Amino acid sequence: MKYALVTGGSRGIGRAICVKLHQMGYEVLINYVSNDAAAKETLDLIEGHGELLRFDVSDPAAVQEAISGWQAAHPGEYIEVLVNNAGVRKDNLLIWLEPAEWSKVIDTNLNSWYYVTRALLQPMLLKKFGRIINVASLSGLKGLPGQTNYSAAKGGMIAATKALAQEVARKKVTVNCVAPGFIRTDMVEGLDEAALKKDIPAARFGEPEEVAALVGFLASPDAGYINGETISINGGLYT
Ligand code: NAP
Repeated sequence: MKYALVTGGSRGIGRAICVKLHQMGYEVLINYVSNDAAAKETLDLIEGHGELLRFDVSDPAAVQEAISGWQAAHPGEYIEVLVNNAGVRKDNLLIWLEPAEWSKVIDTNLNSWYYVTRALLQPMLLKKFGRIINVASLSGLKGLPGQTNYSAAKGGMIAATKALAQEVARKKVTVNCVAPGFIRTDMVEGLDEAALKKDIPAARFGEPEEVAALVGFLASPDAGYINGETISINGGLYT
């Protein structure tokens, strides 16, 4: 059995990544925080080849408990692919941005990266194979107004990715980011798609399956010499 963990696997981009990794032969651990029905739908889509792992990625004790529990139940096995995908946005201009909005986004999108990655890293190093793929964002590269919190979190994730890649490359562990532009999921509901797509050279939002295909490639053996990289997937919006 080969195992992959996808945080935020119940919906949107994470769900498409679960399906892709299942097609690649992985048993997929589908993490989510609250939406049991959506998580079960993802499990159905991967034909039961995996399990649900409900925990809040922003809660270090909950992360440790869930991962230690899985490891205790699977002695001798390890999770070789980690996709840090769970994320939220709470947009506001900085002048009105409340401390809770800042902290929620940093905790869920960036501190979670540290909690989950650290919990899974040691077995990857011991087994001398691992793939860590982080779902960043155009905001983390360019910065977007109204998203200082989200841009800081995603920018931090990109920088941490570059640093960790250099720590672990020798052990055949790769750490990379994908940086999507606008992708059609619940997260972009309420945005003015007609207006926004005028600025996108491809003249459309992307689909979760397109991001999943890129994540699948980075998880594959063919991508073994790509490390510390951030690959944009945004229809040409920003390079
Ligand atoms: P989405 O449809 O809103 O789904 C978010 C996922 O994250 C859900 O599975 C949700 O679980 C999970 N989640 C949220 N908070 C969590 C927590 N504290 N602990 C565990 N899981 C949590 O979002 P999406 O558009 O697919 O976004 C996925 C990733 O892509 C995010 O990191 C986002 O920042 C990034 N991204 C998205 C876009 C875009 O245009 N959509 C663009 C760039 C980057 P529940 O179902 O239980 O709520």
